[in-house]
Amino acid sequence: MSIKNGQQQPTTNDMTAPPAPITLLGTPVHPITMVSTLAAIRQFMREPRLHQICTTNPEFVMTAQRDPLFRQILEAADLCIPDGIGLIYAARWLNWRWQQPRLPERVPGSELIYHLAALCAAEGWLPFLLGASEGIAAATADILQGQYPALQIAGTHAGSPAFEENDALVQMINESGANLLLVAYGAPKQDKWIYRNRDKLPNVRVAIGVGGSFDFVTGKSIRAPRWVQNLGLEWLHRLLHEPWRWRRMLALPKFALRVLIARHR
Ligand code: UDP
Repeated sequence: MSIKNGQQQPTTNDMTAPPAPITLLGTPVHPITMVSTLAAIRQFMREPRLHQICTTNPEFVMTAQRDPLFRQILEAADLCIPDGIGLIYAARWLNWRWQQPRLPERVPGSELIYHLAALCAAEGWLPFLLGASEGIAAATADILQGQYPALQIAGTHAGSPAFEENDALVQMINESGANLLLVAYGAPKQDKWIYRNRDKLPNVRVAIGVGGSFDFVTGKSIRAPRWVQNLGLEWLHRLLHEPWRWRRMLALPKFALRVLIARHR
């Protein structure tokens, strides 16, 4: 790894295909690192079709239990990266026999976005930033361009994935010349939007649901300090700063319980 603007920069020279996913409560998650995620994205950018990437966390796994379309999307995705620490613990607990695969590390979408910006700048890829509240995608583009001056942004567009806007949005992205799409509608909306439109975006090679990543880049949401992240408590930090999330975050204890029970089945 090298360092730029205080960010770690993984090198991405290895060309291996992503490893087969493991399954957690029936949901696929790829045992992949930040470095191999970037290598996979490089490979995807060479292949002339849209590759969908999901930033999976325990909430995704629990939503997939009751939402068959979301489950289908996760199963069809080219890459489900382990965004949540709960997945790492769950894989360790469920795959406790040494020969079974585990998840090597957490790959947070909120860090991937900086590495992607660096790669886009180096490779001349053109990202489009879709979603988040008014002004946030545009501010994210400005901040990333400030950090990576060679970065070109194809376009930004705030707002929600309303059906009546769908065709206009697709046209806007196609006309922008974007080949990489970051969608911040939150899960599962963002992943469904990408899945629904995957055949209408012929120039886009990689589309990623990035959740609240634009909010983190702009400082609208504050990431937990590194020591809190290292303790595996980033979720608690988020709950304390954004208490309105409590209902959604009930998925976490439910996930933990399901995982605890699953090993003894
Ligand atoms: N968002 C949006 N339209 C919606 C719902 C959400 O643009 O209809 C944006 C929201 O402003 C935020 C992002 O989606 O920037 C991620 O939302 P959330 O925090 O719920 O996702 P998470 O990070 O928990 O996946």
